[in-house]
Amino acid sequence: MRFIILIGPPGAGKGTQAKMLEQSLGLPQVSTGDLFRYNLKNETELGKLARTYMDRGALVPDEVTVAMVKDRLGQADAANGAILDGFPRTQAQADALDQLLLQLGGHITVVPNIVVDGEELVARLFKRAQIEGRADDTEETIRHRMHVYEEQTKPLLDYYRQRGLVVNVNGQQDIEAVQQELRRIIEQAS
Ligand code: AMP
Repeated sequence: MRFIILIGPPGAGKGTQAKMLEQSLGLPQVSTGDLFRYNLKNETELGKLARTYMDRGALVPDEVTVAMVKDRLGQADAANGAILDGFPRTQAQADALDQLLLQLGGHITVVPNIVVDGEELVARLFKRAQIEGRADDTEETIRHRMHVYEEQTKPLLDYYRQRGLVVNVNGQQDIEAVQQELRRIIEQAS
């Protein structure tokens, strides 16, 4: 059971790349952002709660997020592992994931870090806001999400670096080139 954790700031292209990897790896993409958006759309209790955080570009509390991920990773299509996209985002989530993988008998094979510079990211997010109309792609929330990434998620790179799992990927190439680089890294790690 193997897990690949895609790390990178909002707008780095994690979602796009994770979707493209699904087929070649035979593992499902598990995106906490997508799971929250699904719940939002269907107006579940979880969705209503998540909305109050997402609208501000803040993180949904760890307990809620971890419970949702546990549930998702227990489903049949994740029996061989998953490509994690947008999770973990805090140290508490990373610790919870370690615990969960111990229980499940899974391991993290590699943590690709998709690197894109700040100005390019903001430009991409504004563009996405116009195309997709995501409620959390306003200027204020974009800035807040960047800040949250720097404060809470970026430190996870050190945590995984200590375990020798992080490999940087140049996220400023075209989508196909990023995909090729990712596949090479994942293959080398497996
Ligand atoms: P994303 O699509 O990954 O950018 O996520 C959109 C929003 O969903 C984030 O700004 C958070 O409000 C929430 N979210 C997604 N993943 C997580 C997570 N791992 N922990 C807490 N909140 C999350």
